[in-house]
Amino acid sequence: MPDAFQNFVNGSWVDAEQGATFEKVNPARTQEMIGLFPESGAADVDAAARAARKAFPAWSSTPAPQRGEILRRIGDLLTERKKALAFEETREMGKPFAETCGDVQEAIDTAYYAASETRRLFGRTVPSELPDKFNMSVRRPIGVAGLITAWNFPIAVPTWKIFPALACGNAIVFKPSEEAPHSGALLAQLLSDAGVPPGVFNLVHGGAAAGEALVEHPDIDAVSFTGSNAVGSKIGATCGRLHKRLALEMGGKNAQIVMPDADLDLALEGVLWGAFGTTGQRCTATSRLVLHEAIHDAFVERLLEQMQTLVLGYGNDEGVHVGPLVNQKALDKVARYVEVGQSEGATLRVGGKRATEGALAEGFFFEPTLFADVAPDMRIAREEIFGPVLSVLKAASYEEAARIANATRYGLSSSIYTQDVSLAYRAMRDLEAGITYVNGPTIGAEAHMPFGGIKHTGNGHRDGGWEVFDFYTETKTVYVDYSGQLQKAQMDNAAS
Ligand code: NAD
Repeated sequence: MPDAFQNFVNGSWVDAEQGATFEKVNPARTQEMIGLFPESGAADVDAAARAARKAFPAWSSTPAPQRGEILRRIGDLLTERKKALAFEETREMGKPFAETCGDVQEAIDTAYYAASETRRLFGRTVPSELPDKFNMSVRRPIGVAGLITAWNFPIAVPTWKIFPALACGNAIVFKPSEEAPHSGALLAQLLSDAGVPPGVFNLVHGGAAAGEALVEHPDIDAVSFTGSNAVGSKIGATCGRLHKRLALEMGGKNAQIVMPDADLDLALEGVLWGAFGTTGQRCTATSRLVLHEAIHDAFVERLLEQMQTLVLGYGNDEGVHVGPLVNQKALDKVARYVEVGQSEGATLRVGGKRATEGALAEGFFFEPTLFADVAPDMRIAREEIFGPVLSVLKAASYEEAARIANATRYGLSSSIYTQDVSLAYRAMRDLEAGITYVNGPTIGAEAHMPFGGIKHTGNGHRDGGWEVFDFYTETKTVYVDYSGQLQKAQMDNAAS
């Protein structure tokens, strides 16, 4: 019998009301089932949202540094359980163990960072324009946050949202991805073990139906979403209609530019990691490589050589660099884009098909793939493929490289390899992205820095860093008049 998992509502593990379930398998060994998870509906979301609403007053009036103590304990427990969590994470979503260890470490960093911020939830004091009057702004929690996430960073990305939301005094209903439900369940247990009070954090499993019910629920005051643009746009429309605060973190089509003066060994190492780490299934994956024409041909040949050294396999086995795609749908999508690239006239230099050698046949593996002679207007240069497919484009100058990098509706991450300080600063200014790396690949976020994208990648908010604390709080402006008189701003004080 497969393990049967439940939702976590008001401090207890419960089945979904309708009793429906979905299966989750190991994408590297599809015969291995991770478990059965509740396919939740509106009634389950309702129970969770009500529990959160009920828990909110006590949690929000708990002194913030006491909430921080719980976050610190969460950080300690994540540290203790890091390897076990990473092992399970690899089992359910596929990326290699070293990467899932990094994923959990990011959650640890976020927990300690959020804990420290609970002593720093600053407001402002500003001079009044009137005598004997005191002006300040303070932060107030919003209420209940509905959090919906993708599967590719199943511990790190949820905790980018959960920990700051808790630090600020909000209650939570979290719906993890149906492709990473086990990580969500382990996280819920850990939060409970660390002392998060019942009802403050609730977990509801399921897919689109549960997600839609969560966004629509009247007790959900704010929604934070990480996932695809298609789903994010729908959620945006609902939140607009219902006047809900919304943070969107969506797709990317990130470019790495390499100039002729760059440290080419470093640039090569960077693009291998940026393009094929997490099997290209990162919002920040390097999916376009823009090479200056002076180095183009030699760089491509070296890259093709290096790609042959990548070892595909089950991520919990030693020495594996690239895991599987997450499911059959992803495999089909990547294969479709390979056809699109070929039909558009790009040159398929390596890869381009499912990897089926030996044990790889048991999983959703796809060969690391490189397209050369890609033009900026081709679909493989503009659309998010979310797989191990790298498109190489050629540029005659920095200006052309920057133009190519910007020729997409996405704006998450970007990178330039150069030793020229002037070019580096021009790229920091010119590249249309929420993140620019100089002499680093497009990936590698740090927990205490704002993370997010411009253009169609986001809606102006950031996960991570100090900015996320603005999302999970409302500003209240407070005036204290101790003059003992009615003072009329703008009228009493006007010069004429
Ligand atoms: P997805 O949009 O299919 O699913 C994301 C989440 O939304 C899941 O939990 C899913 O169950 C839920 N969902 C689906 N339909 C819904 C609906 N109608 N209403 C409410 N919720 C719904 O994305 P995915 O395949 O899980 O993840 C891949 C995408 O996520 C890629 O586009 C990737 O770039 C993006 N991503 C972005 C970031 C970032 O921070 N910018 C990070 C990781 C992944």
